[in-house]
Amino acid sequence: MRTIDHFIAGGTGGLAKARTAAVMDPNNGGQQAEVALGSNDALDRAVAAAQAAQPGWAAWNPQRRARVMFAFKTLIDRDMDELAALLSAEHGKVLADSKGDIQRGLEVVEFCCGLPHVLKGEHTQGAGPGIDVYSMRQPIGIGAGITPFNFPAMIPLWMGAMAVSAGNAFILKPSERDPSVPVRIAALFVEAGLPEGIFQVVHGDKEMVDAILDHPAIGAVSFVGSSDIAQYVYSRGVAAGKRVQAMGGAKNHGVVMPDADLDQVVGDLCGAAFGSAGERCMALPVVVPVGEDTAERLRAKLIPAIHALKIGISTDPEAQYGPVVTAQHKASIERWIQTAVDEGSELVIDGRGFSLQGHEEGYFVGPTLLDRVTPAMSSYHNEIFGPVLQIVRAGDFEEALALASQHQYGNGVAIFTRNGHAAREFAARVNVGMVGINVPIPVPVAYHSFGGWKRSGFGDTDQYGMEGLKFWTKVKKVTARWPDGGGDGSNAFVIPTMG
Ligand code: NAD
Repeated sequence: MRTIDHFIAGGTGGLAKARTAAVMDPNNGGQQAEVALGSNDALDRAVAAAQAAQPGWAAWNPQRRARVMFAFKTLIDRDMDELAALLSAEHGKVLADSKGDIQRGLEVVEFCCGLPHVLKGEHTQGAGPGIDVYSMRQPIGIGAGITPFNFPAMIPLWMGAMAVSAGNAFILKPSERDPSVPVRIAALFVEAGLPEGIFQVVHGDKEMVDAILDHPAIGAVSFVGSSDIAQYVYSRGVAAGKRVQAMGGAKNHGVVMPDADLDQVVGDLCGAAFGSAGERCMALPVVVPVGEDTAERLRAKLIPAIHALKIGISTDPEAQYGPVVTAQHKASIERWIQTAVDEGSELVIDGRGFSLQGHEEGYFVGPTLLDRVTPAMSSYHNEIFGPVLQIVRAGDFEEALALASQHQYGNGVAIFTRNGHAAREFAARVNVGMVGINVPIPVPVAYHSFGGWKRSGFGDTDQYGMEGLKFWTKVKKVTARWPDGGGDGSNAFVIPTMG
């Protein structure tokens, strides 16, 4: 059985084998590897290596640090196919989605190649007589990232590339469900010239998360995962005096106005609701047609499009999506479908019981469509995180706007319309962090920032871009006075000259 170990100081950490967790094979069912589940002793070793390496790394000039990012990018490009295959094998998403996962992380690495520019501080000459004020951005020291299963390359790179190029040491605790790619990323960083101890990986579950949250040497924790755990991580980390940002779950709405191009909407929904088996925090699992006529026309177009979706194993180039991550998650999605039915929504297409020939034990869920879902239903209120699309019919624009605004989650939202005024009003008024206008998955590019509102995000800063830079640095402000001496010149400041 393959064992996936920590990546501490460039090696495995040399720890005695402790607890492990099974890494499953979503395509076929069953176990494919085991991953070490560490605790304090593994973390202490990683912290010691980080403490030894970080001051030296922070002393590299920013451009030299950026060169490591350039080198790292070329290595990821070189190994893209291998990394995508490894990612798909543990996660279950199709190869094209795995490449997208890596590519979106790589875009943050590209942003970090230019970090010397944005790391520059501010300067005021002559803030008072003989007084200059300037600021500098300094690293926190040692930061940690705790990441979810659904983007095992992108999210570690959101955090880790920003943290290390700002001069920090970074300790990653990836999801125990698909832990291999994060370890490969850490090894590629070392190959790119990053000193050992600057980007490390410790595996584990709650025990390791708690060890990170309580460790006095870790100054900042960035978390992405489900909301209850995000809130827990935020509270415990802040209570321990750390800087914490914690991104949580989501239930993104797509509002479809009567004038929308429905063919485009249906294509977008098939990708955004069912792509990656719905296991995306920026998926679009709720569609809100405005007006009964829009609802009927949309539904009529959606049904054949959903029936035409091709589900397959993650290496099938024809497949639009693959299995979900574990048998437990499959069971949870199927329970939510039953709850939705019990609550009175109309099951238009039932994806339960889907079986793929030759892969009968794989964790597949067929695409599911539920209509006449209402805000009173728990299946609407909660995140299902599977290939399930719910139609919530709204009478008018204001009702649709209120639905998205009042939902407990506020990660992303989209409006589909040809009306610029409606789109503009929607973007300005909706109580959600990221908005798409005729764009179903509005993940901002790397030089903007990513973050949701309400129970989708705890803390003040977003991921990557200038917000990420804020999170991974602290600003030192210097006020300096260089007097020119007394008026008669008796105490004059003398500019030294060569003897
Ligand atoms: P999860 O919350 O189960 O796990 C996230 C991390 O927390 C993992 O590293 C896990 O080991 C750790 N963890 C699990 N249980 C814990 C506990 N009891 N105490 C402390 N730590 C614990 O999330 P997941 O299932 O891996 O990922 C899916 C979730 O992540 C979804 O809710 C999705 O919406 C969310 N997500 C959010 C964003 C975002 O940016 N808002 C992005 C991606 C995923």
